[in-house]
Parts: sequence; structure tokens; C-alpha cells
Amino acid sequence: MSAVLTARELTRHYEVSRGLFKPSALVRALNGVSFELEAGRTLAVVGESGCGKSTLARALTLIEEPSSGSLQIAGREVAGASKDERKQLRRDVQMVFQNPYASLNPRQKVGDQLAEPLVINTGLSRVERREQVQAMMQQVGLRPEHYQRYPHMFSGGQRQRIALARAMMLNPKVLVADEPTSALDVSIQAQVLNLFMDLQERYNTGYVFISHNLAVVRHVANDVLVMYLGRPVEMGPSELIYERPLHPYTKALLSATPAIHPDPSKPKIKIAGELPNPLDPPSGCAFHKRCPYATERCKVEEPVLRLIDARQVACHNVESING
Ligand code: SF4
Repeated sequence: MSAVLTARELTRHYEVSRGLFKPSALVRALNGVSFELEAGRTLAVVGESGCGKSTLARALTLIEEPSSGSLQIAGREVAGASKDERKQLRRDVQMVFQNPYASLNPRQKVGDQLAEPLVINTGLSRVERREQVQAMMQQVGLRPEHYQRYPHMFSGGQRQRIALARAMMLNPKVLVADEPTSALDVSIQAQVLNLFMDLQERYNTGYVFISHNLAVVRHVANDVLVMYLGRPVEMGPSELIYERPLHPYTKALLSATPAIHPDPSKPKIKIAGELPNPLDPPSGCAFHKRCPYATERCKVEEPVLRLIDARQVACHNVESING
């Protein structure tokens, strides 16, 4: 197996102005994220809104430069890459957004939008481009006559199929999908997720699936990375994390997920309050003000990721909590 995406201690910090005569503040939107993604596998990145997952998506797709850390795409380091190398790296990582309508040009026919990556990146003739576009349209469940139509003539689910087709046109090594089904009707979500999986099987693409909802990614993720206020708090194989979450935040996220057959032996954990202000993050463990298991140590000492039960967890009290 080969890694198509390797992140090492990725950080993204922003300086934010706090007004006249006040020193600017530093927001640590992404703080030390490391993982490896192999071809044909899916990493789900989950957490509440504001946890840093969208910042991570922008860093992975080269939309934003990380402040520090290393990012490799198919073994090639992004930092220090030449203009031409960056162009190739951008081809290798594509993105699908939450709102497909916003990512499509309303005034351009769908066929032309799908052909655009081929115009820019390949020397294919018009006829060859049309053939490739028609083939991809068929793979995502669109009909040949859809080539001539405009985005507003499609349903939300069909538009997400178009966005996915466009992202896959250049056969990328990695696809980053930021909440790709959350704007869709529940009845359509499963169909679109199945389409993602079919295309992954066909092209062996590595997926990074960003979601606030653990239930949505349950059946697609091989590995799960749970983030809280810019930091990873639990990361490991999906079946382990869903079956036996160890970090209190992961437990709480899973408790909040409706289950068809709820397990009465698993106590419900509610998290109080909201995600802290990233301009003024809590000391010690960033989760301590909301954590039912917080101790004095949690208020002063930041926990680091440790290998426990075949996954990584950042919590001082993980052994006593899960005894
Ligand atoms: Fe809770 Fe402390 Fe663990 Fe943080 S380190 S999750 S506050 S028990």
C-alpha cells in the first residue's frame, strides 16, 4: 500500500486584529495534525463546526499554505515545490464542497464545465474530451442529454453528482470532500455516498471525508480523526472508534448520534456549553470546561496523543475513564 497523502504536524495559525491599540491575537485553527492516507482508503475528519476541519481541508487542497509542518502528496513534498510541480500537485488533490450549486458556474453548460479540467490540463481534442466527459457522466448516473443543460436545471443530488464528476475528471490521487451530503435530503444522501464509494473502488482514490456528523461517515470511513479546537483528540481505525470510543469528546459526539438500535449499556454523555472562543482557548486540555471527567491536571497540562488500544488518544484520564 502506498500513502497518497501524508501530513506531519500540520499547523495553520491566523493573526486576528482585536481593534485599535490592542495587540493582535493568534488563532491556532489547526494545531499539529498528522496522518497518513493510503490509496483506496477513506479518512473521516469529524468534529463540531469551528474545530478546524475545514481549515485542514483547505490546507490539504493547497488552497491555503500551512503555517508549519509537512504535507506530501503521493510522496512529493508540497513546501518548496516549483510552480510547475504545484500545478501537478493541484491536479492530484481535488475537492468537493458542501454546496454543489455554489461550486458550479450557473451560466455554463454542465458538459463544458466537466470538460474544463481537460482543456486546462490535457492536450485532448474536442471530440476526445467530449467522449471522456460522457463516460464520466454515465459513471455518476447522468444521462447524455444532461451535457447541454445548465446547473439550475438539476436537483441538489444531481448537482453533487456533477461536482463529483468534475473533481474526478483528472483521476486525482486524493479527493477531499467537505460535508458533501449535508445540504442534501436524507433520502438522497445514501445514494450520493454510494456513488462516492463506487468511484473510489473504480479509481482507487484516497478520500478525506469531512463531517460534523459521525453517523454520516460511519459506513464510508476506514479511519477516523476526531478534532477539537484545531487539535486531534482521537484517531484510529473506524470500527474501533465506533465500537469503543475512548476520548470523552468522541463519546459525546457518538452519544449525540441517533442510533437505530441504541445500546442501553453505553451511558449517554452530554457535553455542556459550546466550543470555546478560539481567540481565547482554555488552558491545559482545551476540552476541560465541557468535560465531565476533568481533573485539576486537565486545567493546567495539555494532553498529547498516546497510543492506547490500537488508536491514538489525547486525554490524561483515558485509562481511568475507560477502566
Ligand atoms: Fe477530559 Fe481531562 Fe481527558 Fe481533557 S484530559 S478530555 S478534560 S479528562
